[in-house]
Amino acid sequence: MAALEIVLVPALSDNYVYLLHDAGTGATAVVDPGEAPPVEAALAARGWTLTQIVNTHHHHDHTDGNDALKAKYGVPLVGPRAESARIAGMDVMVGDGDTVQVAGHSAIVYETPGHTTGHVSFHIPDSQALFCGDTLFALGCGRMFEGTPTQFWKSLSTLRALPSNTKIYCGHEYTQSNARFAVSVDGGNAKLKARAAEIDRLRAAKQPTVPSILADEFDTNPFLRADDPAMAAAVGMAGADPIAVFAEIRKRKDAF
Ligand SMILES: [Zn+2]
Repeated sequence: MAALEIVLVPALSDNYVYLLHDAGTGATAVVDPGEAPPVEAALAARGWTLTQIVNTHHHHDHTDGNDALKAKYGVPLVGPRAESARIAGMDVMVGDGDTVQVAGHSAIVYETPGHTTGHVSFHIPDSQALFCGDTLFALGCGRMFEGTPTQFWKSLSTLRALPSNTKIYCGHEYTQSNARFAVSVDGGNAKLKARAAEIDRLRAAKQPTVPSILADEFDTNPFLRADDPAMAAAVGMAGADPIAVFAEIRKRKDAF
């Protein structure tokens, strides 16, 4: 089966909604529609018909388009079982280790708490694609609204273990500000500095920085490197537990 065609749909101020389209069957899923109109426009522009909605977590900037899209297209909503009380209208509920069909392609579900307690991520191996909402960002991670450092580090460690060529489709275009922070805590990282320069070039040209590649995140994202002795040393915590290093980096980002 050919890989899914994946379209970025900018929404709200800095969200990315994704359309996932199988050219063979016409199946088309939308991931995290924070609003419906740009999704409807993107579908119409391509002559595609929506067949499924997928949510990673309950925040309104990822779910507020659900109702209008369900009403217009009559399609099922897939979302995290743990959020049945906070996401209305779920038809298919998924949890850790489940396999669910997304636009007709097998997606493996990982529970990735930290940003919210019920957050899930969807890995679609045949398209080398990860939809991780607000858990992992290009050069960053989500704010820790509901989870603990222990949970969040475990979630990021799970995603980090996916194939290194995995494309990271995250929920927001935050990369340039994430890069400034990353350089502030890891300024000796030559790969990071080169990547930050490339991000500046892309944003100056009004180009998206998403998706990124997991291998690049592994080398340059400070939140994925909390167990790297060089990262611990860079924040003055040589020898400290990775969870403590992660918590410190997260705290510094909150205050950046
Ligand atoms: Zn969120």
